[in-house]
Amino acid sequence: MNVEQFRADLRAWLDDHDLTPGPGDSLPGHMKQLARVHSALYEAGWMRYGWPVAVGGLGGPALLRAIVGEEVVGRRLAEPGPYSMVEVLAPTMIDYAPAELAAEMVPRLLSGREQWCQGFSEPGSGSDLASLATRAVPRGDDWIVNGQKVWTSFAQFSTRCILLARTAPGHDGITAFFVDLDTPGISIRPLRTMHGVDEFCEVYYDDVVVPSSRMLGKPGEGWRLAMDLLPYERSTCFWQRIAYLYSRFDELIAQAPDPDEFDLGAAYLALHMLRCRSRATQHRLADGARLGPETSIDKVLLATAEQRLYDAVHDLLPGAVELDQTPWRSEYLYSRAATIYGGTAEVQRNIIARRLLDLGKD
Ligand SMILES: Cc1cc2nc3c(=O)[nH]c(=O)nc-3n(C[C@H](O)[C@H](O)[C@H](O)COP(=O)(O)OP(=O)(O)OC[C@H]3O[C@@H](n4cnc5c(N)ncnc54)[C@H](O)[C@@H]3O)c2cc1C
Repeated sequence: MNVEQFRADLRAWLDDHDLTPGPGDSLPGHMKQLARVHSALYEAGWMRYGWPVAVGGLGGPALLRAIVGEEVVGRRLAEPGPYSMVEVLAPTMIDYAPAELAAEMVPRLLSGREQWCQGFSEPGSGSDLASLATRAVPRGDDWIVNGQKVWTSFAQFSTRCILLARTAPGHDGITAFFVDLDTPGISIRPLRTMHGVDEFCEVYYDDVVVPSSRMLGKPGEGWRLAMDLLPYERSTCFWQRIAYLYSRFDELIAQAPDPDEFDLGAAYLALHMLRCRSRATQHRLADGARLGPETSIDKVLLATAEQRLYDAVHDLLPGAVELDQTPWRSEYLYSRAATIYGGTAEVQRNIIARRLLDLGKD
């Protein structure tokens, strides 16, 4: 398929089909809008390009998904965070779920009928994810899960969760499950972030029964699944986030009363460097490459560009961050999390130093 023709056709379709969000700026509103956008795009086929036919897709390279994300998020039809969950979780299901389960479930996610979440982090296990303590113990044909997860984004809006649990000691003792969140024994408590949004949750699992048929991969393959998921988070997902940041950069130029060329130049340079890097990553993914630790570079560049952009907002729009209740304020505060979510900046730099530059342990 000709990628530029695809983009032109999609743009024409989006121009003809008004998916502009309604007024208001609440997270439940964003989630509703996301479902609306996914549903419309799925019905029209756009949300199915770049996904395998076996899971309801129409085939073609992953690049097509990146283009859909770029257009949708760049036009502010959906918020980048919730939109990105599909890009993180659907490829994981395709790679690890039994084929029938993936065929049944993935279309529900792509079409906006369901939202899913990612239950990895725990109170004592974030960067050191391999220390996670939520346990899954076999009982007949089921597994019984007990433990606590934290920072599970959008869990309160989700039907299902990709969960990591401990089934034996060590890295090889982590197993992944696809869990229905309405199973008895699961309690979800939203947490308020400093930008005033209940974006993520604590999720408690008390004697939760999960059928063996819901295991993703084999027992002990959860660590590999987690390592395979991260590069997805840093490829197509990043591409749409970059489009969103560019749209905010344009808005900043439009609103800044006295644009300082140095601040704007620094922000633009950081964004442009990120986009160049990410473009190469999208092409490698589309060419079938297995992405690995080199995506830590993309993560460092994304966090740097996002924070640089909102630092420029802070400097060039007096009071917008401190005094006004505009989206700039919550976006500025959220940008501080860019060096934490999806792997902290310090840990990414360690990975770059040790695994890419071979600089040794210290
Ligand atoms: C907005 C947001 C959304 C999130 N969504 C999800 C989600 O949906 N699902 C999910 O499972 N998790 C999610 N997370 C959790 C995220 O993955 C963790 O916050 C992250 O992995 C860091 O773990 P931690 O918070 O426990 O911090 P810690 O690991 O405790 O780190 C604390 C500090 O110590 C530093 N540090 C830790 N280890 C090292 C080291 N070895 N070398 C140098 N410095 C180190 C870190 O860089 C950091 O500055 C989300 C987080 C955020 C902010």
